This record gives sequence, C-alpha cells and structure tokens, in this order.
Amino acid sequence: MAFNFFRKTPRTPRQRDSRQEASRQEESRTPGSRGMRLIFNPSGDAADILAYATGLAEGRIAGKYMLSKDQLPDTVVIQGVSRKGIIAGADLSVDQETAKKEGIDVARQPRSGRSGAQPVDTVSLNALMTGASDSFTAESVDMDQPAVLLYTSGTTGKPKGVMLSHTNFYSQCSQVVPSVMEMLTEDRVVLVLPLFHVYGLSNGLVASVFNGCSMALVSHYSPANLLSTITEQEATLLIAIPTMYQHLLQSARVRKQSIPKSLRGCISGGAPLAVATIQEFEELFQTRINEGYGLTETTSAVSLNPSGEAYKEGSIGPPAGSIEMAIMDEEGTLLPDNQEGEIVIRGPVVTRGYWNNREATEEAILDGWFHTGDLGHRDSDGYYFITDRKKDLIIRGGFNISPREVEETIATHRAVQESAVVAVQDKRGREAVKAFVVLKEEEDLTQAELSEFCTAHLAPYKVPKLFEFVPALPKSAAGKVLRRELRGEAQDDRL
Ligand code: ATP
Repeated sequence: MAFNFFRKTPRTPRQRDSRQEASRQEESRTPGSRGMRLIFNPSGDAADILAYATGLAEGRIAGKYMLSKDQLPDTVVIQGVSRKGIIAGADLSVDQETAKKEGIDVARQPRSGRSGAQPVDTVSLNALMTGASDSFTAESVDMDQPAVLLYTSGTTGKPKGVMLSHTNFYSQCSQVVPSVMEMLTEDRVVLVLPLFHVYGLSNGLVASVFNGCSMALVSHYSPANLLSTITEQEATLLIAIPTMYQHLLQSARVRKQSIPKSLRGCISGGAPLAVATIQEFEELFQTRINEGYGLTETTSAVSLNPSGEAYKEGSIGPPAGSIEMAIMDEEGTLLPDNQEGEIVIRGPVVTRGYWNNREATEEAILDGWFHTGDLGHRDSDGYYFITDRKKDLIIRGGFNISPREVEETIATHRAVQESAVVAVQDKRGREAVKAFVVLKEEEDLTQAELSEFCTAHLAPYKVPKLFEFVPALPKSAAGKVLRRELRGEAQDDRL
C-alpha cells in the first residue's frame, strides 16, 4: 500500500494565496537566508528520521515551499519497527523509548496483518499533525553546523559517520538538483528508497519538500508495490537504484497490460546501471532513466548523464551545478583528459569530515578535494566514466583487473541477470577472479558454458577461475553489492 502526501482536493486560490503569503513572510523574516532548516540530532539512527518527520509535520522545516495540513492525507503512518533502521520509505520507525523522549503519543494498535491495519506501536502522521499549526516559524541555525550525521554504506569497510551541514543540503537542493532535473510543484515523486541513506533522504525527501512536490511513499518495497504505486498515484518522477529498475522491468514484463505511462523522469544512482536496462526501460515505460553519481560525503548527487543527444553511453555525466570534479594520481597531481586516476570532488555539497574520525577526514579531504576512492577518467567533453572502486581492484601477476569490466562482460550473456566479481587466493597466494552469478528466471547455464563465453570476450588473465551460481547477490539497503560478504564466502575456495 502506498501512503501519499497528495492533495485530496485541488488547492483553492485563497489557500494558494495564503501559502504564497506565508512563504513571503518567511523570506522577509530571515533576510538573505532562504536555506533549509533541517531539525536533526547527530545520532544517525531512526530518531533522526522521526525528528525529521516530526519537523516536517509541525512545519519546523522551512523549504522553498512547505507542506501544510491540507496537503496531508488521512493514511500516512509512521511504522514502529526498530531503532536500528528504516526498511523502506514510509517506515519511519519509532520505538516506545524514542517516542517517549520525543513526547509522542504512540498508539497501541492491533498488529498489522495482510489487512493493512496499522501495526503495533505506531503513530499516525495525523496524530502528529494534531495541534500542529499551518504556519511555521523558521528556526535560526548556523548553516555550517552539522544538520545530520549519515553513515556511509560500509561497502568497502566499516561505515563512517559523515557530518552534513545545512549548507550542504541547501546547495544540493538549490544548485545540483535544478541543474540535473526539473522538479515542479505538479510533480509526484515516488519515495521508495530508505531515508537513512543519503540518496533517498537528499534527492528524494529533502529535494521534494524543497520544490514543493507531492510524494508517494511506498510502505514496503516490492516490485509489485512500486509498480502499483506509480500506476495508482500517476507518479511523474522516480528516484531509485539499479536493482529496483531491473525488478520493475521483470514485474512489468509479466503484466504487460498495466505498464504505467505517467513517469516523465527517472534517476538511478548508487551503483552502476546497465545500458541494457536503460534501453529496455525506455521501450516499456516510454521514459528514460538518467544515471547519476554521488556519495554520502557529497550530500548525494554530483553528476548526471543527460538525456537526448547529450547522452553518452556508460558515463556518469559532467559535474552538476557548481561542483568541480577532477582526476588525480597517487601523488595528488591533476591528470589530463582520458587518463585514469581517482575521481576527486570540490564544492559546497562536500562534507567537512567524518564524525569523531580525524584520521579518516585528513585522508579523504586534501586541499579541499574530497577523494572518492572511485577510479575513472574524463573524456574531452568533460564527461566522467567510473571504472572501479580502488579497493575492489583485483591484482593478478602485476596486472589490474577491473571487476566491473568482468561483470559487464558476464552481463551481456542472455541468460545472466547480474553478477559480482571478487578476488580469491590461488595456491600460490596470488589473486584470482571469482564470479558470483545470478541467472534470469527459467534460464539455465553451466559453468563451462559461461567460462567459454568469457574466454571469447576477455583477456585470458581476466577470465574468472571460479563461477558460482547464486539465487541473489547480498546487497545493502541502498542496493550496493556487499563485496565484503562475497569475499568472506570466497575465502574457503581452493584453486
Ligand atoms: P563505504 O565508504 O562505507 O564503503 P559507500 O562508499 O558504498 O560505503 P555510499 O556513500 O553509499 O557509501 O556510496 C558511494 C559510492 O557509490 C561511490 O563512491 C561509488 O562507488 C558508488 N556509486 C554511486 N553512484 C554510482 C554510479 N552511478 N555508478 C557506479 N558507482 C556509483
């Protein structure tokens, strides 16, 4: 079931006028600082999201536009699951303890079943809204203070707490987003990504509020739920990860009759998106997926591959807005076009550092350049291409092997859904390539056949020595393949 923030009835001219007036008053109250004020505690767990939702409901968060009571439906529910994390967009978790601290009246309801009843220990947004005012007073904050502490995905190591300031969010909303995507008040944005990850929070929730868009929250992620939310809500914008687009395609293929055509823009980020997915999606949904690139440390997006004639296959696009991107070698020298090195980023969306981790901060930010740990190059038109993450490279006999290149080759086999490639040790202690492969439904393939296919398309030293067919790849909530886990599993393999 989708919870939505859509207006039940069109706003009357009087309501519109009063909104504009409120907005004018807000601007005049805080001259020169129309920035967003996000009410977060730097603790990085569900309480932050709750605080955000509460702030949103109470009108304490000032954007260009504000959601007010008349925009909220009856059915939005903040679900009580756990303090550790929020599973999907609408699962704005709150437990008893947090609720008590926040002074929220948590309703004890029958446990949710398939009937869709409100789950136990939950608080409805309507309850939060009771007593909230339609107008709001912006709180004065130092824009350079941390607004939120977000943890990285932990794809390559232990997650690090990234301090993101109000300025970081404001710059993302006012400079980066408008340069890559038009978000209008008429738009209906599907929020399906977890809000504890920078992508869903910054480009999904915060950017939508900032632009006064309506939002459709998918309560529990499943391809069918996502597809029906888009259809029922006639959603116009979708901000999602590659896996979700692949799932949507599978789901849509099964139900050819009900493919929604309302989407006018789709963004994918967080992990590489296969070109084949873009093409198939465009055919079925009649809209294009634009691939963006970003990190927690940059408050999400820094670049986007444009549509139309400006599109370049396999690229993450040129830098967006006032963002500066460059390629650097190990010595810190900026490299010319077409040379491979580390992608570095400078600009107002870059974090000032990691929480309680000066060493990691000093390693990552040098002379204002944030070092992404991603390898790639820039072409002569200023477009960037990611080849791999530094830490994922496999080194065999002095040669670097890019897992991404091997994965992309395997993905071109008609029977393959996706794969992930990691290093395993051979008998002589050298790194060799192992591929974990997920096959498409009802497809069959042997290791020998896939090995033969790779031999025909890759240099001999890049061909995986081992293949393992698995039902699914381990992924983080933000859709990233957890290579750590795969490496752990591959440790016992003997070559
Ligand atoms: P950790 O630093 O803890 O290992 P993480 O870097 O995965 O976690 P995030 O900030 O969630 O944490 O992810 C940023 C990374 O996601 C980028 O450095 C890049 O490797 C990857 N990424 C983002 N967008 C894309 C994209 N379009 N294509 C390929 N990789 C992408």
